Amino acid sequence: MTSITQERSLSEQFPRLARNGGLDVRELERLRARARRFAEEHVRPRALEIDRRTGEDPGWFDWDLVRAGGEHGMLGLLIPRPAGGGGGLATQAAVAMEELCAACPGIALIFGAHALGISPLLLGGPSQWDGVLAELVASERTGEPLLMACAITEPEAGTDVEDPDLLRRARITSHARRVPGGFRLSGTKRFISNGSVARWITLLMPTDPRRPAETWTCFLLDTRSEGFAVARVEHKMGQRACPAAELTFDEVFVPDEQIVSREGDGAAATTIVLACSRPPVAAIATGIARGAYERVLGWLQEDRAAKGLLERQHVQLALAGMEEEIHLARQLYMDAATELDHRALGGVMSHPGVRALGHVPASVRRRAPVRGWLASDRACDATVALLHRSTSERAVTRSLALSSMAKARGGDVAMRVTGAALELVGLRAGPVRAELEKLWRDAKLTQIYEGTNQLNRLEVYRGLCRSETMSCLPPLRRIHPDADGRARTNAEPRAYLDANASQPASVDGDGGRS
Ligand SMILES: Cc1cc2nc3c(=O)[nH]c(=O)nc-3n(C[C@H](O)[C@H](O)[C@H](O)COP(=O)(O)OP(=O)(O)OC[C@H]3O[C@@H](n4cnc5c(N)ncnc54)[C@H](O)[C@@H]3O)c2cc1C
Repeated sequence: MTSITQERSLSEQFPRLARNGGLDVRELERLRARARRFAEEHVRPRALEIDRRTGEDPGWFDWDLVRAGGEHGMLGLLIPRPAGGGGGLATQAAVAMEELCAACPGIALIFGAHALGISPLLLGGPSQWDGVLAELVASERTGEPLLMACAITEPEAGTDVEDPDLLRRARITSHARRVPGGFRLSGTKRFISNGSVARWITLLMPTDPRRPAETWTCFLLDTRSEGFAVARVEHKMGQRACPAAELTFDEVFVPDEQIVSREGDGAAATTIVLACSRPPVAAIATGIARGAYERVLGWLQEDRAAKGLLERQHVQLALAGMEEEIHLARQLYMDAATELDHRALGGVMSHPGVRALGHVPASVRRRAPVRGWLASDRACDATVALLHRSTSERAVTRSLALSSMAKARGGDVAMRVTGAALELVGLRAGPVRAELEKLWRDAKLTQIYEGTNQLNRLEVYRGLCRSETMSCLPPLRRIHPDADGRARTNAEPRAYLDANASQPASVDGDGGRS
């Protein structure tokens, strides 16, 4: 049973893809084919059984599927090529997610939450390539893959910690306390996808609870650390294959080297990470809607119980409405993903300096002096400066708004299409009904995580209706003396860039950086 989505190539559906930041469309097609093969051979056949098992025991987890996903390239998708991964960004993640979610969104979320855990590390630039990212790639090659998670949400702060303005007033109870050589983390994180199975977690906490927005910091936590515990795994309504856990931190030590980027850059990191993860979440929702549509269409065409229904006009109208909604949802997430990759993030990885570093063998990059330099404050500041050079706060704000629009609309489409499909089959459909009922439960989460739809629509208002520019890039912080010995500060980003980089500054499509 094929739908129009499967018949049309990506370049037919999105003719402007190739022009967007040099995206290799043939490679994207190959990725889609690989994701589809994994979905059809491994994911869909196990979806109902895993949903039942995890419904009975939320802690049950299928590592065989993770291994199979690794073999199909679903784990290293976002890991930069110099670290041995697929080098993808939001577009690649979104294309893969739609395929997996048309089969089973719960299983897909294991890979999605892993990618979310990896995302903050990408902002750390080359300094992160040879650490945990390389370890993830190596673990996958040995057939014993490690997973990641990202922990932002707290018991009293969900929406509030996903927006830099709300963060100022959020009821945050976690705290990272400075000690010699690092920090001690205390508190609780809730609803963390992959939280109970992850080996590494990127997590956000303030280093000063009185100034959470200014001191929100991203840490990389080894879950074997003393003081870390999985307090419980939630009973979920949908997307059950991926466990959501409550995690507790009791004075867990994290060394200075495991601060991702720099202390206090966490609010900007969260904004960028969410901007990047919302198109794939919109694709999750689109995939769920497509899965429901394809199942109901297959049932109407092939099942004797549905005989004659396709001749009825109300059924034809319902199917046309579903196709229309799915088509629009896909256009929205591809628009958001390609805009983000092209105008907000792609510039960092395609910068000649970063590309040149990527050609240096990992064995050389791991030598003490090179590793030391890559991990230094100066290298970190250079990565931040590069981010400022490659994009602008306006471009990121607009990309975030487009991502939010795709995410909110996608979630609503998933709920509407799965509901309409269930209504069409009514009580008649046997096994297909069970799949549709599961997809309907799975769909609800797409309106909640990665920011509720309400929060996402407020981002659309800010970024598109009001054309606001959020302060969403890590600040240029270092003070360097210029030729006259005069100190340059954050207040003079242009001067900072001129003093610290050799590349000519790029200008975004609005005619300038903010
Ligand atoms: C299964 C599952 C998996 C998850 N996985 C992760 C994960 O891996 N990592 C992670 O960090 N988090 C994760 N989350 C958390 C998720 O991102 C939060 O649930 C979400 O941000 C909403 O927060 P909340 O549940 O505290 O709701 P609240 O923030 O309490 O919101 C309740 C309601 O109030 C509305 N609201 C709140 N503030 C505003 C406002 N300022 N303006 C308008 N409306 C507002 C919301 O839209 C919502 O309707 C997960 C959640 C679930 C359920």
